[in-house]
Amino acid sequence: MNEPVLVLNANFEPLNVCTTRRALGLVFTGKAEMLANGRGYVRTVRTRVPRPSVIRLEYMIHRPRPRVRLTKREIFRRDSHACQYCGRKATRPTIDHIIPRHRGGEHSWANLVTACSACNLRKGGRVLHEARMTLLHPPQEPRANALYLFAPHLGQNEDWFPFLKGW
Ligand SMILES: [Zn+2]
Repeated sequence: MNEPVLVLNANFEPLNVCTTRRALGLVFTGKAEMLANGRGYVRTVRTRVPRPSVIRLEYMIHRPRPRVRLTKREIFRRDSHACQYCGRKATRPTIDHIIPRHRGGEHSWANLVTACSACNLRKGGRVLHEARMTLLHPPQEPRANALYLFAPHLGQNEDWFPFLKGW
């Protein structure tokens, strides 16, 4: 009952992921409709119901445009775990502050990149031109489209793909 279920807004915009238990609660109380199942059945006291994979709310949730959270993991994911100085896939990636903190560098998407430990060490507490290093790409905040936001779930839930595409 804890399997993830994709929750869509009334206008089909992907909203979030909830448990099968919560999804069934929403469907039983008429707050959502089941859009995709195919995961077998859930037995209840009286009957058995298809196990949902995607549900759609019957009412519209209004919320600000989603943004990708600025975390170490999300920075590595944005950079495909590749060092942004030498381009190598880092087995133990680190986070580099392009402008070091002690020089006023911010904790922001534009100032944080994935770096292998060799490049991070080489750069040290210097800014780019002092270290004579260049970035492969200017770092930016990733666009929070649905495919990006929900990508970590897609491996296990391929049937979500058509519902995420285009948002
Ligand atoms: Zn490197």
